[in-house]
Amino acid sequence: MATGNPLLRRGLLFVLSSPSGAGKSTIARMILEADDGIGLSVSATTRPIREGEEDGKDYHFVSNSEFDELVESGAFLEWAHVFGHRYGTLKTEVVKQIEGGRDVLLDIDWQGTQQLKQVDPDIVRVFVLPPSMEELDRRLRSRGTDSDEVVAHRMNRAHIEISHWAEYDYVFINDDADKCKKLVHTVLKAERLKASRRVFLHDFVRSLLAGEAAFVREQRLG
Ligand code: 5GP
Repeated sequence: MATGNPLLRRGLLFVLSSPSGAGKSTIARMILEADDGIGLSVSATTRPIREGEEDGKDYHFVSNSEFDELVESGAFLEWAHVFGHRYGTLKTEVVKQIEGGRDVLLDIDWQGTQQLKQVDPDIVRVFVLPPSMEELDRRLRSRGTDSDEVVAHRMNRAHIEISHWAEYDYVFINDDADKCKKLVHTVLKAERLKASRRVFLHDFVRSLLAGEAAFVREQRLG
């Protein structure tokens, strides 16, 4: 995504998807804690707030009519129906961070990822798989926040989500959160180093070839 700020490289939209319960939120939290160059895009949702969640931090919890208004005013980069509720990425969340010179982590599903890819073909898409469906079922139950019916629904939904794994650039199996986080973080750091994102290289090479005193500006290599 192009930015109007003096970034030394292009900002990055970093998408993390997985079926619910595969450990994506834990990995997202670990990346955000370990790397101050990336911030979370806090989505808007019509889903009711869960115990322990905070409005504005986990999600912007909105009513159905508020969500309708956001859709009508073009406030979303993407939005989708998930588990009978609506979820969407707010443009303001992304622009605010990109303009602050940061990359943005988006915890969104496959539908949102497909839409975002249309908006910005340069996004990086990472998918996290559970080690087995038994383990996924166990993790969903151990949360203790959802009824049997909801867990069964989430397991059905997991099959659909997983069927989209091949649409992603990087796919990891989360059999160990630390190991998986390291892999995801390695991808983030490597993607930042892509020549196409490091726009300052144009100026550098121009002055290099012109025989001018080419100076190396600070490089944010993460
Ligand atoms: P949960 O209700 O468990 O927090 O999230 C349910 C699912 O909605 C997760 O798979 C999550 O990735 C997805 N989700 C959260 N925010 C967004 C969003 O802004 N857009 C889309 N498309 N999916 C989202």
